[in-house]
Amino acid sequence: MTDTSSVPELKKLIYNQLRLGLVRDPETATLRDWWISTSKAARTIIIERLIATQREHYRKNVKRVYYFSLEFLMGRLFSNSLHNVGIFSQIQQAIGEMGLSLDSLREEEYDMALGNGGLGRLAACFMDSLATMDFPAIGYGIYYQYGLFKQEFHNGYQAELPDDWMHLFGSPWEIKRPEYATEVQLYGRVENVFDEYGNCVQKWVNTKKVLGIPHDIPVPGFGTKTVNYLRLWASHADKSFDFEAFNRGEYDKAILEKNCSEILTKVLYPNDKTERGRELRFIQQYFFVSCSLQDILRRFLKNNDNWEHLPEKAAIQLNDTHPAIAIVELMRIFLDLYAMPWEQAWSIVTRVFAYTNHTLLPEGLEKWSVATFSAILPRHLQVIYEINSKLLEQVEKKWPHNTSKRCALSLIEEGREKMVRMAHLCVVGSHSVNGVAALHTQLLKQHLFSEFHALYPSKINNKTNGITPRRWLLACNPRLSVLITSKIGDSWIRNLSRLRALEDYIEDPEFQQDFMAAKLANKTFLASLIQQECGITVDPSALFDVQIKRLHEYKRQHLNLLHILALYRRLLQNPNLDIVSRVFVFAAKATPGYDMAKCIIKAINSVGSVINRDSRISGKLKVAFLPNYRVSLAQRIVPAADLSEQISTAGKEASGTGNMKMALNGALTIGTLDGANVEICEEVGEENIFLFGLKINEVAALLRKGYCPEEFYHADEELRAVIDWLGSGYFTPCDPPGTLNPLLESLIHQDPFLVLADFRSYSDCQQRVDATFRDKSLWARMAIFNTARVGKFSSDRAVGEYAREIWQLDPVPVLGAELNRCIP
Ligand SMILES: *Cc1c(COP(=O)(O)O)cnc(C)c1O
Repeated sequence: MTDTSSVPELKKLIYNQLRLGLVRDPETATLRDWWISTSKAARTIIIERLIATQREHYRKNVKRVYYFSLEFLMGRLFSNSLHNVGIFSQIQQAIGEMGLSLDSLREEEYDMALGNGGLGRLAACFMDSLATMDFPAIGYGIYYQYGLFKQEFHNGYQAELPDDWMHLFGSPWEIKRPEYATEVQLYGRVENVFDEYGNCVQKWVNTKKVLGIPHDIPVPGFGTKTVNYLRLWASHADKSFDFEAFNRGEYDKAILEKNCSEILTKVLYPNDKTERGRELRFIQQYFFVSCSLQDILRRFLKNNDNWEHLPEKAAIQLNDTHPAIAIVELMRIFLDLYAMPWEQAWSIVTRVFAYTNHTLLPEGLEKWSVATFSAILPRHLQVIYEINSKLLEQVEKKWPHNTSKRCALSLIEEGREKMVRMAHLCVVGSHSVNGVAALHTQLLKQHLFSEFHALYPSKINNKTNGITPRRWLLACNPRLSVLITSKIGDSWIRNLSRLRALEDYIEDPEFQQDFMAAKLANKTFLASLIQQECGITVDPSALFDVQIKRLHEYKRQHLNLLHILALYRRLLQNPNLDIVSRVFVFAAKATPGYDMAKCIIKAINSVGSVINRDSRISGKLKVAFLPNYRVSLAQRIVPAADLSEQISTAGKEASGTGNMKMALNGALTIGTLDGANVEICEEVGEENIFLFGLKINEVAALLRKGYCPEEFYHADEELRAVIDWLGSGYFTPCDPPGTLNPLLESLIHQDPFLVLADFRSYSDCQQRVDATFRDKSLWARMAIFNTARVGKFSSDRAVGEYAREIWQLDPVPVLGAELNRCIP
């Protein structure tokens, strides 16, 4: 057997892909041609391992975990695939010998942006960890033709353009599998009919049908032969399908008319947290759940014939409530298609499913109207009522004659319009309900699910989020990775807590220097990107103060903005003021329907354009809002951050993962005691993080006594001045008067996220940051300490906990022998 990963063999593979696969002449091939051929060359190696892995899993009849998520924010796959398969340096050499550079090839790839933000990125990190740790796993989701919109700024305002990530060329990683096409039913009605034993049974009839076609994306693990995959469903017209039914919603007509057959999986809903009752979104959820469950049961039945064994072979993790309908669908399949008794079906179902909650925000809790259900999934609605009546029996037993408990726990919310509460469905239909950070889980138990916690005391548990070190250190920060490996070896890549060994070098001035030199080089690179993207010149030696995340009021980008205004004003009033130079880096998309978020974007851009041009402050402050935040952009910003802004109102951020990425790359955090910041603080110690602001109990106390932002506005001269300045029109000379009024009004009169209450504490804390940054050696020691201490936040740790405590899943190593059997 030849070594397929030697440089000459890889070159041969790449040339073959170019000529035989793409039918291109190397003489005239474009960069994109080379990128595709190189990716496909790597793919041939990945596919051998994929086949070996799946054969091994099948042969051993293993238990698998199925990760159900409406979002997978994969980003680019090129570099990570090469690293994980172990051919990065060989490909780099091969490409170099062919007169090309890996860096330029990499830029050809579109991000696979099939998600909004943290929730989708978590799913992607988990896929990487599952494969790396040899867990048999399949991710199930939707093959959206258009990912999250592309963002541009027009006159400082967000403009949304379609993200045509497949373009004309598709993705070199995907494998279309029409042989596993799956039929899904919708609409219709329920008939009562008698079966051959004289039992009255329900039949869902007169349905519309649509097909799901799987598109698989292989997911190779790092340093192992395991290759799992992501199976994404694209909709396809069934001949009998009546698309008129879709035309009822106010769904974007332009896209709708183009190609009816693919309408269902055309776009990702750009709703982060807020859920707008869109019928199409509801159908998307059911569509992918139905396809995936049929796929899972088909696979189960190949090797098994007793449904009682399903929980020993399949664990399904629901990433938020978006796939909640799976619980009902599996019940329906058992009851209607296999005539299973209710109790047995329910017992199996609840042993299979587990649910991850991602938000405490009330607007984030998904509900669908009973009317929507009865039109689209009438049989499922019956099953939900039955589940609910059994739930209410339990409630009656625990709290007899207690109407308020019944109302609080019911799956159905009574009101003008009856609604199905998807989170409640998940809690009753799963054996595990987890929060995503210790604090978040505690709040779930105390507030959102307190009654359920009383009813099922062992169900709610914590699984603190994590990030994959392969993408968020090894691939995105080669300078720091090489430095770390030169000191402590490379075992940290699969075992991130090994980074603790860096503590031995904290006092070593040479290491401090090398560490900060890597940071400076990354900042220099980001500076050139800022120049190119924003036309702003920034000094790489300035403090890079970074806030990158979805734009949301609870994340408080506007608190950051008020501090920028305060610094600017102090500088103008005292030109000799000695402050460290800062570059404020923002990147954030706002959900298209979220006007306040868009107003904050406009405000930051407006203030930025005035500050960036003001020669009076001699470049001490710069504001760079990079457009189109996405994974590949995050991978360039994260390694260059000095300061990581994690400043949400305490109690609002479930976990955060951006906080973990930047701390791992040696940024210091300025943050509230919220989400996983609490645990980062535990790991690095209070002296290595900048904490400020109200704590959860203080937030609650302030709201109880009646929060009045005007009081803070009047009591703080500087705060009042910067708010009035922002509202004066000074920063928006070319826009109509009152352009930023919605933001101003909200801050002064409502301020639901306590920006004004936290301003002074934040501003004082920023002065501590300033003082610390002047002491280069101190800053370096703190930065190194952050990198050394955040090993806990590897998604390997998180996935290991899920496997042990929720899925009862064992790793299944794929051996070389199995691999060889695939290659005759
Ligand atoms: C990590 C990540 C997020 C999540 O960031 P938070 O700061 O945790 O909200 C969102 N979007 C992208 C592209 C990311 O990489």
